[in-house]
Formats: sequence, C-alpha cells, structure tokens
Amino acid sequence: MHTIILNRHQVCQGPLILINSSHPLSKHYSPDLVCLPDSSGVLMERHAAHLLSACVQAAKGTGQIVPVSGYRSHTEQQAIWDDTMSTNGVSFTEKYVAPPGCSEHQSGLAIDLGRLSSHIDFIRPDFPDEGVCGVFRSLSVNYGFIERYKDGKQSITGIAPEPWHFRYVGIPHARLMEEHGLTLEEYSDFLSRRPWRYAQESDRRAIIFYVPCFEETTAITIPDCCYQISGDNQQGFIITLWEAGE
Ligand SMILES: [Zn+2]
Repeated sequence: MHTIILNRHQVCQGPLILINSSHPLSKHYSPDLVCLPDSSGVLMERHAAHLLSACVQAAKGTGQIVPVSGYRSHTEQQAIWDDTMSTNGVSFTEKYVAPPGCSEHQSGLAIDLGRLSSHIDFIRPDFPDEGVCGVFRSLSVNYGFIERYKDGKQSITGIAPEPWHFRYVGIPHARLMEEHGLTLEEYSDFLSRRPWRYAQESDRRAIIFYVPCFEETTAITIPDCCYQISGDNQQGFIITLWEAGE
C-alpha cells in the first residue's frame, strides 16, 4: 500500500472532469494534444486520439468517418459562439454551442464526427445510426467514449441531442455509464452512493471509487497496482484501480 496526497486544484484535472455551463474548464487546464490522422489538422488529447483512431479502425470507418471538430482554444470557441449567434440566432446557439469556457471541446477530450460527404455541417454534422457510423457508435464504449448528449437526457445535460459528439472518459467508466444509463453529470453522485464499483476492461477488472475533497489536500491510501486518479471538476476525485490480468 502507499499514500498519495492530492491537492484541491487537481479536482479540475483528468479525463473525468465534468464540463458544462455550470462547470467551466479551469484556466490552468492544458491538454497534451496531437493531430488526428487524415483530419486536416484536428487536434485531440493524446490518449483519447489514440483510442479514437483504434475505434474508427475497428469499425472499418477509415476514410468514411471524418473528425469534424476536436480541440478548440477559448478564442476559437468564442469565434464559433459569435458566428453561430450572428448566423442562426440566440435559441439555436444556446441549443447547440456551449458558451466559451464551458465547452468540452476546450479539454481536447471531445470529438464531433461526421459521415464523409461533399458538404459536412460544422455545427451539426450528419452521423447516422446506420452503416459504418452505427458500427462506430456501438463500439465506442469499448474504446472509452460516451455519446455525451443523448436523446432523453436534455433535462440533465442542458444540451439538445447531439449524435455526432463523443467524449472520452476511459474504458471502465464508459462501460459503467452505459450499463447504468448515466450522463457524466450523474456519474460522481452514482459512484459516491457505494463504497466502490466494478467494471471489466478486456482481461482486467477495474475497481472504481469516489473520494470527496474537503480540504486543501486529500490523502488516499491505495494498493500497489496500476491506477488512475481524475478530478470530477466538482467536489472530488474518481479513483480507478486495475487488478492484475489472469
Ligand atoms: Zn461537439
């Protein structure tokens, strides 16, 4: 066993941070970005980019599934907000574009995908349930992605359904959210209601638990195994421990 000391500012860091209009991204967040292959310069967080490419390949979607929009700086998000506002008006903009500082795209963990065509809508790309896009959608959880703004969840997410927007959270978390029909808004509360939860990841089992952050520093003692710690951008940390494979 060993003890790890976490600082309060780490609540705003990691792949499980909640980003929405009530939970803006920390100004100190700076993702490790890479360029997606065959994307004319679309950037994404390094680990998320690797798993996105693997999922597109598994879906046999290379060349047909197009990364439309990945990482955006605060300035780019502001420009998209302003352009959409002047072209489409307030109600459309508030429905489909997050205010600057509150977009998942600024984390590098989100990607908008479209089906290859001669014209792809930048704000609302076509990403249907059929064909190769549907195959990608059904596989995405196994690569750590959730469809972030689902139909029927608008009262929780505050965003209209966006079947083209995927958010990287990590494989065990995507599986757990899918299994229990949860949005990211509901995930910390779900975890905090039990001491721990289990999720399978290929031949390994992940043990997941929530640690609230009450003080400037939080000490947690964990076994000597592979682990990940992510803040939730709210009140605490989500700890993932992986048991050794069989
Ligand atoms: Zn998006």
